[in-house]
Amino acid sequence: MTHPTYLWAPPPVASLPVRGQASRLPVNRLFFVGRNYHAHALEMGKPVDKSVERPFYFTKSPTTLVASGATVPYPSETANYQFEMELVLAIGATGFRVPAAQAHALVYGYACGLDMTRRDLQLVARDKGRPWDLGKDIEQGSVVSEIVPMPGTVLEQGTLALQVNGQTRQQSDIDKLIWGIREIIADLSLFYHLQPGDLIFTGTPEGVGAVQPGDRLTGQVAGVGEIALTIGAAA
Ligand code: MN
Repeated sequence: MTHPTYLWAPPPVASLPVRGQASRLPVNRLFFVGRNYHAHALEMGKPVDKSVERPFYFTKSPTTLVASGATVPYPSETANYQFEMELVLAIGATGFRVPAAQAHALVYGYACGLDMTRRDLQLVARDKGRPWDLGKDIEQGSVVSEIVPMPGTVLEQGTLALQVNGQTRQQSDIDKLIWGIREIIADLSLFYHLQPGDLIFTGTPEGVGAVQPGDRLTGQVAGVGEIALTIGAAA
């Protein structure tokens, strides 16, 4: 087979470092679970009744990925740029219509993530019934730490916290996820053929808030690791 030629250099493969490995994890897709902690759903004014609702999702382009430790510009066209600290699940095997009891087989590992959000634009879009893309699919707006390999492990607890300039703003526990790791894999795999390199941001707890240029964000998930981000001057 002849190698294709391209008009210009193809974009680089989005990838993340893996703890204890020389090889990087090539990132495929970025999925995000919406409203997956009751206290956050309440602060957004949209409580969740799991008995009658299913989880919902949005996606961001893998080109929005940025590594932990980066300094990113305060983005354009927002006056309310917010952090959302999340546990990120890294998929390591293919799966479609995966039963919850088998979901662990798709787990490669976990990471800490920040789902950065133009909250003003997201809420306008939400309330007008428009897509969330401008509020969520933000250049350098998907921050992920190193991936921690834990093949087959279903995380069910662990403190998750975020600080702004050293002050705690979010603190909760993975055990408060409305839809846990097994349920997320089972449900999302009804819609997508999950593939190695898919990352699933599992949702944020309460305490989300705005950042300003110069702010330093730090976050941790117990048993997984930590993440950091600095907000630079406006783009
Ligand atoms: Mn989120």
